[in-house]
Formats: sequence, structure tokens, C-alpha cells
Amino acid sequence: MALGSDGVRVTMESALTARDRVGVQDFVLLENFTSEAAFIENLRRRFRENLIYTYIGPVLVSVNPYRDLQIYSRQHMERYRGVSFYEVPPHLFAVADTVYRALRTERRDQAVMISGESGAGKTEATKRLLQFYAETCPAPERGGAVRDRLLQSNPVLEAFGNAKTLRNDNSSRFGKYMDVQFDFKGAPVGGHILSYLLEKSRVVHQNHGERNFHVFYQLLEGGEEETLRRLGLERNPQSYLYLVKGQCAKVSSINDKSDWKVVRKALTVIDFTEDEVEDLLSIVASVLHLGNIHFAADEESNAQVTTENQLKYLTRLLSVEGSTLREALTHRKIIAKGEELLSPLNLEQAAYARDALAKAVYSRTFTWLVGKINRSLASKDAESPSWRSTTVLGLLDIYGFEVFQHNSFEQFCINYCNEKLQQLFIELTLKSEQEEYEAEGIAWEPVQYFNNKIICDLVEEKFKGIISILDEECLRPGEATDLTFLEKLEDTVKHHPHFLTHKLADQRTRKSLGRGEFRLLHYAGEVTYSVTGFLDKNNDLLFRNLKETMCSSKNPIMSQCFDRNELSDKKRPETVATQFKMSLLQLVEILQSKEPAYVRCIKPNDAKQPGRFDEVLIRHQVKYLGLMENLRVRRAGFAYRRKYEAFLQRYKSLCPETWPTWAGRPQDGVAVLVRHLGYKPEEYKMGRTKIFIRFPKTLFATEDALEV
Ligand code: ATP
Ligand code: MG
Repeated sequence: MALGSDGVRVTMESALTARDRVGVQDFVLLENFTSEAAFIENLRRRFRENLIYTYIGPVLVSVNPYRDLQIYSRQHMERYRGVSFYEVPPHLFAVADTVYRALRTERRDQAVMISGESGAGKTEATKRLLQFYAETCPAPERGGAVRDRLLQSNPVLEAFGNAKTLRNDNSSRFGKYMDVQFDFKGAPVGGHILSYLLEKSRVVHQNHGERNFHVFYQLLEGGEEETLRRLGLERNPQSYLYLVKGQCAKVSSINDKSDWKVVRKALTVIDFTEDEVEDLLSIVASVLHLGNIHFAADEESNAQVTTENQLKYLTRLLSVEGSTLREALTHRKIIAKGEELLSPLNLEQAAYARDALAKAVYSRTFTWLVGKINRSLASKDAESPSWRSTTVLGLLDIYGFEVFQHNSFEQFCINYCNEKLQQLFIELTLKSEQEEYEAEGIAWEPVQYFNNKIICDLVEEKFKGIISILDEECLRPGEATDLTFLEKLEDTVKHHPHFLTHKLADQRTRKSLGRGEFRLLHYAGEVTYSVTGFLDKNNDLLFRNLKETMCSSKNPIMSQCFDRNELSDKKRPETVATQFKMSLLQLVEILQSKEPAYVRCIKPNDAKQPGRFDEVLIRHQVKYLGLMENLRVRRAGFAYRRKYEAFLQRYKSLCPETWPTWAGRPQDGVAVLVRHLGYKPEEYKMGRTKIFIRFPKTLFATEDALEV
């Protein structure tokens, strides 16, 4: 739908009178709000008309159109500035503007949480929001560069953290939370990024039809001759074992060469010196060379490096001693009774060590990169008094619930994360509903809802939680296996209503569960996880001598990534799951301190095609996103609420006493109006500033009366 010049009128019409054609623009207005079929039908009608946005109260539901709808122009931004959420058609910019105004007028920190499965449009939404603020907010008095840095940090992070997958050609392989700081005049003055759980296994392996991280292809395609020569790289991605596993180096929707130009420029904007760029590219290249390191077995079956040329480049690019690196790739150092022993590795172990090094180098560089970006985004005015009055707007772009044919440790972490966010969502939604009722002086009616705390506890509780049991098993190297972990789980949480294994299942469900699997009943549905690899992935070991070698690196980035203290530290490093759990707890704390806004993204089909609405796929997402529950909570009391002024303005023509103008208080005018319209006492309530209407049909009848 094109926005009419008088946006208000067009919207109301499409929402209410033309609702048969384009559906309702707020799901709370659905007559049959508990029906999933009605929900999906409404989405379908709107999608058909290219109306990709629909509300559930203040929550924005967005369906990826997979085509450029031309709805994000500067003109569109202007249309949504300073107008009330409900007076204009649903749009991401309405959320952007509402959040920004709340930040400015109430001076409360805000957080926009964007969720949805891979390819649903989270990252696009994040980018549009950032663009909205970059273009519409006033420029800061000093340090105007921060705006550019906020925008330019994105291509760099995407180059290193995104990849082509089967689901999305530009899939974020990490979770991201970004704070934008605004000064008291509402100008962006700084930012900060937190990243979560980079999928580092991708560095060494890609499934068929998928790629490694974009940056490798970008550098090979777009890097200057001179640069490639220095790095010892060939242009052809086929030359690198780490790039050929997915057999799809070229992707039609991606132009690596021009993307590289963008990234290269962006690096300069975010304060990279030429030296730093060189150091960074040396690391990217070293990962490719590492992948091409081959081993052959000597007569004692010990691995020997056979690719001398690669080793030479590696030594140079990582600035380490060649002999040390060679030894570290083929031996393992063990400290027993205070003595150091070198034990040679066989072929399989050497390949494992090599891949572990590649993953560690890449993922630590990614973390370093986030830190570097943060230093460049840090408000330069941090010391000045105005700093104290900054407010923060957070943007969360994090992986949605994942259920594949085969689910492993990664899905377990991601789904746990979604479980936490769902808990926060329910808590905050109920809280804000309750607060509004209180503020309006309307009695609160308790809502029945499913509290998923029980599942969060199952995963994260001390001693008895799945993560803590996993960590315990990781402490028994040599003895524990993925299967002993599963047994321990079975013993500890056997009676939990949300946990099941083959052994614990009854006859009926046993068939669908393998012996190396456990099943969790998440809020969004059942997921069966295979325990294979859980211990290894959670431990994330890097042999000691590889660590030592990297600590001796003279590449300035590497020496920041591998700290010598790590070697002397007797304490075991935190496991991956525990680190993730801690960072999630911190995230929840951050989000809790802010006023929340939500964008729920939906992917309409698996073919990345415009116009296709795959109902089965969408039904799943409606479930995973908890949208029906969301709607139920929102509709539990009153379907519709509106400020007295707005309500009166719209309907005053229906009552001779309020038409053409009402001289008294708007509230009294509304009281006269609804009495005239014959509203029954149980159908509505009068709050302090708003009228609350229980059922949509009351409102529709009033709306229809306007048409007569
Ligand atoms: P992932 O979890 O894999 O990172 P995502 O939710 O971040 O997925 P995006 O990368 O934002 O997904 O979107 C995938 C693709 O869908 C985009 O590259 C773009 O082509 C298209 N797309 C998403 N949102 C929109 C939109 N609002 N308008 C037009 N196209 C869109
Ligand atoms: Mg993304």
C-alpha cells in the first residue's frame, strides 16, 4: 500500500474498513485472536499486498519480502518522524521513531530486540534502524565522525562474521548487540558492540553449498596484486582447502570484489592504520595457508609437515619461529610432574591441532576486531560532564530458534539463548502491560501464561543444570566421553518434564530417539540433540605448545590475541557453554535495564524468493517466535486502547454533542460519545488518559458507522 498524503485516513481505512482485503494492521484486532489459522491468514493477506509489517500491540512483526519495496527512503523516514505509532501504517521506522522519542523525552535507555530465524531479515532491519538514526538525528557538536563509524563498522563485521549458507547468502554467524549512545541533544556520540558465539567451525569446514566467511573471498577477488604477492596468495579460491569444502566459491548475489572495496574503505573510517590493515590481512592469509598445511606419516606413524612453502609463509605472516611452529604442529607438550614432555602427533591428531589453531587464530582475531571497533566508537567525550547525560539505544540482532535434522552443541547454545530471551520477553511484556493498567488506574486482571523459567533452569542451574553437568564431564579428560555425559544427564535430570532420552522414554516415544541423543521440550517445541562432539566443542582445547607459539608472535594483533598470562594461569579457562551462559546473563541484565521494543522477523519461504508465502514454514516460525502467546497476553484484557484525544478526533462526528467540536475535556467528550454509541459497561473502561476497549467488534462497529 502506498502511503497517502494524509497518512492517517489511508491507514485507518486499510486497517478497518478494507480489512477483508488487506487484513488488520494490528493482530489484537483479530476477532478470533486465539486461532493460529486466522493469524496466518492475516499475515498472508497483507503479504500479498506487499504489507510486510503488522503489529501485535507494540511488537512489530515483519515478513521478509525478498525484494526491494522502496520503503526505506529519506521520505519514508520523514513520514514516520514525530507521529504517533498508531496513526501511520506499521513500519520499522515507526518503531525507530517511537523508541527514539521515548529516549529523548523520558530519558530512559531503550533496546530494540530483533529476532527470527536465519534469513528472516534481522540484520537488514538492524541496518535500516541504524540508517534511520544516522540520517534523522542531529549531528553531534563534536566528533561527527561517529556516525560514519557506526555505519562503517557493519561491512567490516559482516566481512569477518557473515557467510553464505544454504539459508541466507549473507548469514550472520555470530550474535550481535550494539549500543548507540546519544547526547542530551539526541545526537549519536558513541557506540559499543558485544558479540556472541562466532561459529568458528566454519573456518575449517563448510557444508555443501555454503562458504567460509566472506573476507577470504573478498581478499582473493579484490586484493591488489601487490598485496596478494606479499601474502603469498593466489586469486583462485579453489587453491585453498579451507575454501573448497562447500564447493561454491562464487555466489550470484555477492560481488566479492566490490564488497572488498567497501570493507577496505570502512577499515580506514574505523581508525585502522595502514600497518594494522597489513597485520590483519596477514592473519587472514595465514589461516588460508594453515589450511593447506599437509602432513605425511614417518616410519613411526608420526606426522611430519610436507608443505614447506606454506610453512614458510605462515612463519612470516604470523611472525613466529619456523622451527617452533613446525614442532607445535606435530607435537603435543605435556607437563607431568613439573617436567615438560613432547609427544609426537599422528596424522589425525596433527590435522586436529592445525584446525584448532586456525579456528583459534580466526575467532580471536574476530574478538580483537570487535574490540578495535569499540575503541573507535567509544565516545570521545567520555570525560566531559555531558557524558553523564547520555542515553543508550541498544540493537540486538541475534540468532533465532534453530531446529535442524541434526542438532548439536551449537543449536543447544542458540536455543538456550532464545529460551532466555523469551523469558525476558514475557516478563517485560507482562510488566509493561501491568504498568500501563496501573498508570491508567484500571484493575489488573492476571494473565495465564507459560513461564519457561523451568527450561532455563534445566539448562543453567548450578550443579544440576545441563551446562554444569557438561562442564563436570569436561574436567575428566581421558575418562569422560559424550556418552558418559549423556548417562550423567540421565541420572541427574531424569524426572524433569522437559527432558527425555532413549532410556527414559516410554515405548511410544522411544522409537524417535537415538541412543546418543537427548530431547528438550523448549517453549517453542521439541528439539532432539545429538551429544556427539559436545565435550570437544565445550572444551575447545588448543594444545599448549600451539598457544606458546602464538604468544611469541610478533604480529601485533596476534600478540594481543594470545596473552602470555594464559600460559601461567593455573585456573582452567571457562568452557564455551559457561562463557556463553555468563555473556547471556550479562546481556539479559543489560536488556532488563532498558525499555524494550521488539521486531519479530519471519522468512516467507526457503527459496529466497519474492511473493512466495509458504504456510508450513511460517506456521513454525509463528510458533518459535511465541507470537500466539504474545497475542494472547496482549489481548488478555483489552484489545484496543487509545488516547482520548485521538479517539475523540476520529469518532466525534458520530455524536451530535461532540460534533463538530467538543469544548470540554477530551475524556468527558469520549464518555458522552461512547454512551451515545451504546457501548455497554463491560465492553470498555475509562483510564486516566486512554479508553480501553475489550473486543475488536465494538471498535469495528464504530468504525463501520463512520462509513455510513
Ligand atoms: P541470519 O540469521 O542468517 O543472519 P538474518 O535474519 O539476519 O539472517 P538478513 O541477512 O537480514 O537475515 O536477510 C536475508 C536477506 O533477505 C537479505 O540479504 C535481503 O536480500 C533480504 N531481506 C531481508 N529483509 C529485507 C527487507 N526488509 N526488504 C528487502 N529485502 C530484505
Ligand atoms: Mg543476520
